[in-house]
Amino acid sequence: MTDERPTRLSLGGLKLQTLAPLESDGDQIAMPARRPTSGEPVSTRVVIVGSGPAGLTAAIYAARANLAPIVIGGLVGGGQLMVTSDVENYPGFPEAIAGPELMDRFRAQALRFGARIVDADVDRVDFAGRPFRLWADGVEYRADAVIVATGAEAIWLGIDSETRLRGKGVSACATCDGFFFRDKVVGVVGGGDSALEDALYLTRFAKEVHLIHRRDALRASKIMQARAEANPKIAMHLNRTVKEVLGDNTVDGVRLERTDRSGEEILPVEGLFVAIGHRPNVDVFRDWLDLDDKGYLRVEGRTTASNIDGVFVAGDVDDHRYRQAVTAAGEGCRAAIDAERWLEATESQAPGGTAAVATPPSPTTAG
Ligand SMILES: Cc1cc2nc3c(=O)[nH]c(=O)nc-3n(C[C@H](O)[C@H](O)[C@H](O)COP(=O)(O)OP(=O)(O)OC[C@H]3O[C@@H](n4cnc5c(N)ncnc54)[C@H](O)[C@@H]3O)c2cc1C
Repeated sequence: MTDERPTRLSLGGLKLQTLAPLESDGDQIAMPARRPTSGEPVSTRVVIVGSGPAGLTAAIYAARANLAPIVIGGLVGGGQLMVTSDVENYPGFPEAIAGPELMDRFRAQALRFGARIVDADVDRVDFAGRPFRLWADGVEYRADAVIVATGAEAIWLGIDSETRLRGKGVSACATCDGFFFRDKVVGVVGGGDSALEDALYLTRFAKEVHLIHRRDALRASKIMQARAEANPKIAMHLNRTVKEVLGDNTVDGVRLERTDRSGEEILPVEGLFVAIGHRPNVDVFRDWLDLDDKGYLRVEGRTTASNIDGVFVAGDVDDHRYRQAVTAAGEGCRAAIDAERWLEATESQAPGGTAAVATPPSPTTAG
């Protein structure tokens, strides 16, 4: 057994959570090579932005590769699984595991190998050359390589009853939570391909799926519409918006308002899936990293490389297709391996082992 006592340090405004190293006597704490004084940059080999499954898996691999990663993990660390209850599809947990507990384990494993985790948001970056520079909570970080794993956020309807019943029958992930609605009646909000994919997927479990869309026609592709229309379990409710999710601790129904004329109706459902889109967390990188046509970060082919040498991308921030904890973790692993190999190749080519300067992009502003 190892003594894995988390220790919070405050170094000149830098909040670090770290652990006593494995072989230490408990007095030595893994910390930045030099204690930062006010205004002094913190330098390391790899900075990872984001502490969801992708970021923390990258941290485990980078730490075990002796790259001394600092994870700037976000003000609310742990990512999307911190707001979900049971995760039943993460391999290795046959009895299911609560989302926050799973993320605590990711975090403990990263800390165990010496990763340092800062609970702050990166609010500015400068990727014009190496070392790359990032700012969070007033501290400047410098790194030879960066892994961006900032995830994506589901777009919600924004009504109080939806927030209150999230995780109690209201979900934004059919792949994750559909299984809990076997033989139940569920609603799906949205009119695009994702909403129809979710509706079709849910017909495997639910006995009825009610698709609710605010316009008089769906936005989804014709082929998806044809599939949904042909499915006897799916009923369409066009020209309607959800005004309220009904129920105290479980979902009992939704109150719908007509958008084409006045009028309200109650639709009795036992679960509600909100499928009106996701917003990848790309704002601070927008001026440096290429986005795809859906606004997600773009990676090169089957690698995790971005358009800037030495900056890698992992997890939901580049993935609008799979959006699962296990795929995000897998990509975090790939990003750490890509970063390690890239650093090794770059530094072996540079005279005296010094890092080469990255090709600067042409940003419109400094982010
Ligand atoms: C309700 C719900 C239930 C789910 N259930 C399941 C499930 O059962 N099984 C499953 O496999 N998947 C599930 N998912 C999907 C899963 O949570 C995601 O696919 C996974 O979390 C993506 O991991 P990630 O590391 O890419 O991003 P995220 O988990 O989104 O983590 C991103 C992290 O980056 C941080 N961040 C963002 N911007 C910045 C910044 N500027 N600076 C620093 N940090 C920043 C955020 O604070 C966050 O900590 C669920 C999702 C939701 C919403």
